[in-house]
Amino acid sequence: MICVLTGGTGGAKFVDGLRQVIPPEEITLIVNTGDDLLWWGLYVSPDIDSITYVLSGLLSRERGWGVKGDTFLCLQAMGQLGEPTWFHTGDRDLAVHLLRSRLLAEGKTLSEATSTICEKLGVKARILPMSDSRVETRVDTPSGELSFEEYFVQRWYQDPVNSVRFAGASDAEPAPGVIQAIESADAVLIAPSNPITSIGPILSVPGIREALRGARGKVAAVSPIVGNAPVAGPAGILMAAQGLPCSIAGVAKAYEDFLDLLICDTRDARAADALRGNGLRVQCTQTILRSAEDKAALARTVLSFAKSGELADKSVSDESAARAAEHL
Ligand code: GDP
Repeated sequence: MICVLTGGTGGAKFVDGLRQVIPPEEITLIVNTGDDLLWWGLYVSPDIDSITYVLSGLLSRERGWGVKGDTFLCLQAMGQLGEPTWFHTGDRDLAVHLLRSRLLAEGKTLSEATSTICEKLGVKARILPMSDSRVETRVDTPSGELSFEEYFVQRWYQDPVNSVRFAGASDAEPAPGVIQAIESADAVLIAPSNPITSIGPILSVPGIREALRGARGKVAAVSPIVGNAPVAGPAGILMAAQGLPCSIAGVAKAYEDFLDLLICDTRDARAADALRGNGLRVQCTQTILRSAEDKAALARTVLSFAKSGELADKSVSDESAARAAEHL
């Protein structure tokens, strides 16, 4: 089994590649819920939705979020009623939010609601929220503290950022299956997601970092930073706010206590050498994901690197990675 920590658009692209090269039944995804929000009274979990849509073939690849070919009639109608419309939800997307909200109102946990939705949409991989408790990413700016979606979607990440915190994290527990998935995986892959606001919330849940440190498989991360800049979005600003350089060294630093392998872009070959000098295993490859082929190629490289990285210090059977490597 391969375990993937993921969130957001970078993660969705990476998972789109993985699903091409490894049977979905062998993938467990641990997904960021720090961006979750109540929107028009409905519980929306943007990162769980993106991963669910990519694995069910519903994701709009042009937008990188929401359902392909969706319409926005409800959004228009809500605007006419004077309701806020800055967070875009398509009509088919809303159906998922309605179902999830009903399941939660009936007393189901977020894990249970996610599993029901996945079953109905034919998703064969296992999608786990990082926690069933509410952990909310809060971005501190000179205009006050904002939720992640207010900062990112409503205000186009234009505000300077003082710091980021994860409200509720200290009291949260990992969702059922999360620790076991990390500890028992043949390899744990960290998607090229924002290290602060997509992977950071997952790492803030007590017990998850410790599980990563004790994982029997190798832990490999793909850098979302290429040539000292994020491929998209505010990762650089947020890393700086948290005292990390916007570089592959910053990514390595964010994960330093558990990272075995870092996969970065060929453009960062020189910086990779410097990191190798510090003892980290680093592989350079093409990591800009535009086509289905790019995504599949990166997934293959990451899986085979995670496999070849299985050294005597971590004696692992690595059956899933071996099977995936056979497809290469
Ligand atoms: P956000 O957009 O910053 O909230 O972060 P997300 O976790 O949603 O995903 C965006 C992250 O993925 C950014 O940090 C991007 O740099 C990264 N990303 C997006 N597309 C690619 C890609 O094609 N290759 C790589 N390596 N990273 C990517």
